Amino acid sequence: MVRENLNQVESAVRETLENCGRKREDVTLIAVSKTKPVEMVREAYDCGIRDFGENKVKEMLNKEPQLPGDIRWHMIGHLQTNKVKSVLGKTVLIHSIDTLKLCDTIDFEARKAKLNVRGLLEVNVTGEETKFGFSPEELIPLLERLKQYRNLKICGLMTVAPNVTDPEENRPVFQRLSQLSIDIKCKKVDNVTMDILSMGMTGDYRIALQEGATCIRVGTGIFGAREIGE
Ligand SMILES: *Cc1c(COP(=O)(O)O)cnc(C)c1O
Repeated sequence: MVRENLNQVESAVRETLENCGRKREDVTLIAVSKTKPVEMVREAYDCGIRDFGENKVKEMLNKEPQLPGDIRWHMIGHLQTNKVKSVLGKTVLIHSIDTLKLCDTIDFEARKAKLNVRGLLEVNVTGEETKFGFSPEELIPLLERLKQYRNLKICGLMTVAPNVTDPEENRPVFQRLSQLSIDIKCKKVDNVTMDILSMGMTGDYRIALQEGATCIRVGTGIFGAREIGE
């Protein structure tokens, strides 16, 4: 099942990118394996997938040693500051940096561990109460702080768009994130690049790709539905 699903997602990604004149190699497909067993991760791995997303530190640390070492694990879920230490060095990119305190903690712990860490700022574009992330207005003042970090490098922005029935409804959300990333890039802040735009999930990754996503995070579309509440 994973193989067929992946084939479908892969062709949709290729078709969408071709239609907007973008290259496949400019986009990373992250297979979101949260709640799914290692056997399914292995299936996707055997199909050539190397980027996997998890939203819980414990689950990622549990799966990681059971699977091949060339997997790139992406942390995509809310990260508590007391878990930062255990995840550093295990993840290629932290997508979900959502508070200044978390930025500070990651830089501090990374310095102690002598590691260089890459992360994205999560933006709550629509201001949904239930979502984590900086408001768009908070981003620009934050830049002053980010350039002081020595071990945390901010490489882009991430958002989780609202759950909608028609994915077109999320186009303005993706456009806004893309524009924010351009605005920040123009400011040329030390230690901050805007190379990565992590947006688009199973329901709306085509729209996100049309609006410039460089990372899409697809769970259900690859591994099937998750249990309710997970
Ligand atoms: C679960 C999750 C996804 C994947 O969602 P699907 O709708 O199953 O594709 C993407 N991003 C984040 C942050 C998630 O928590």
